[in-house]
Amino acid sequence: MSKRLWKSHELKKGYDVVIIGGGVNGLATAYYLAKMGMKNIAVLESKFVGYGGSGRNTAILRSNYRTPEGIRFYEQSMGMYRDLAQELDYNLMFSEQGHFTLGHSESSISGLVTRAENNKALNVNSYMLDPKEIKGMLPEIDITDHPRYPVMGALYHPPGGIIRHDAVVWAYCKEAEKLGVEVHNLTTVEDVSIKNGKITGVKTNRGQVSCGKLLSAVAGWSSEVCGKVGLKLPIATYPLQAMVTESYKPWLHHVVVSSTLHIYLSQTDRGELVCGNGIDNYTHYGMQSTLGFLEGYAAHVLELFPILHNVKVQRSWAGLCDMTPDYGPIISKINEIEGFYLNGGWGTYGFKAGPASGYNTAKMIFDDKEPEMIEAFSFYRFQNNTLGGEKAAASVGN
Ligand SMILES: Cc1cc2nc3c(=O)[nH]c(=O)nc-3n(C[C@H](O)[C@H](O)[C@H](O)COP(=O)(O)OP(=O)(O)OC[C@H]3O[C@@H](n4cnc5c(N)ncnc54)[C@H](O)[C@@H]3O)c2cc1C
Repeated sequence: MSKRLWKSHELKKGYDVVIIGGGVNGLATAYYLAKMGMKNIAVLESKFVGYGGSGRNTAILRSNYRTPEGIRFYEQSMGMYRDLAQELDYNLMFSEQGHFTLGHSESSISGLVTRAENNKALNVNSYMLDPKEIKGMLPEIDITDHPRYPVMGALYHPPGGIIRHDAVVWAYCKEAEKLGVEVHNLTTVEDVSIKNGKITGVKTNRGQVSCGKLLSAVAGWSSEVCGKVGLKLPIATYPLQAMVTESYKPWLHHVVVSSTLHIYLSQTDRGELVCGNGIDNYTHYGMQSTLGFLEGYAAHVLELFPILHNVKVQRSWAGLCDMTPDYGPIISKINEIEGFYLNGGWGTYGFKAGPASGYNTAKMIFDDKEPEMIEAFSFYRFQNNTLGGEKAAASVGN
């Protein structure tokens, strides 16, 4: 019989730290906290690890964002991802195959050039290509002037790529457990107890659990969980859909994104094309895929790659995305409630953040102070009017 990667535990009466959410951000935080020497940590997950966005994403990793704080943060994450398979002793299948963001108008090209310059200034490898250079690397793409949106150029990011998302989640879970963290599946946090402005515990479907520090790392469910402590978030939850096709001979050797056409695609080692588009245009907590998504995606992708007219869709799905107004995450202490911390606002881009997010969140909980790397992601930027500006680089680009 194969060995289980992690064990089941009795739920104890109390822990020093409770983390709500068994996705990449909650599990990575638990792992780095335990590595820093914190004891007595529990991760409480309502369904099973990887049930949320962490098991539903299209696994694109990159760091060529637009703002200096975004670029630095995602670059730290990419650096950590490069060594992660070794650190967590698990094959994560990280393939740095290069990431194209296509531009189809003067204004989108100008935005991509700004990103290329900002990335260059911070030593991140990302530069512009003209249509001929694009065609040389993506021979199947249509760069004629017939489509509605001709390809005018692209921002290319050689270190960008894809990873096996499930493996990342499982590996963090397995190594966190080895360091003494308890991960409890099927454990829903139903309420939060606060006394004299301090976190004292949580009520779960398996009983009351006391704790001194509590982290909400529930992405699409952030508004619901933070509502339990009376915290109103500037977050709206939208579904995001994706699909995979049947397997084909390898032909697409890079990740391709077009925000004008609202599509992205890549090919896995098994030959399936993994495809996605922008968030649905209504807020919702449903995770059903729709025919409208498939039709819209198919129409747009054929404008770029007409050779795909006969591919067969294998399955499609949706996940929840917690969008903030400035397309930046929120990683923050909540000053009004002692012992309460928030990791959320990950929108459509939080999987690539996992290692840096987990490390910096762990450091924040350990020191009870945000490290400099994540100061720009404070919850209080929405009160102080110091919002970021990551929309151009974060929307469909993943
Ligand atoms: C279709 C799609 C494609 C995407 N593509 C990419 C991509 O290519 N690259 C990228 O970087 N990002 C991508 N993302 C975004 C990324 O998946 C998420 O931002 C990221 O996985 C969020 O991770 P998390 O750990 O914060 O939350 P999640 O993985 O969503 O985990 C939150 C967990 O909290 C649990 N939970 C909720 N409420 C409670 C409660 N009350 N008690 C206990 N547990 C609770 C949930 O069950 C869930 O498992 C995509 C998302 C989707 C949906």
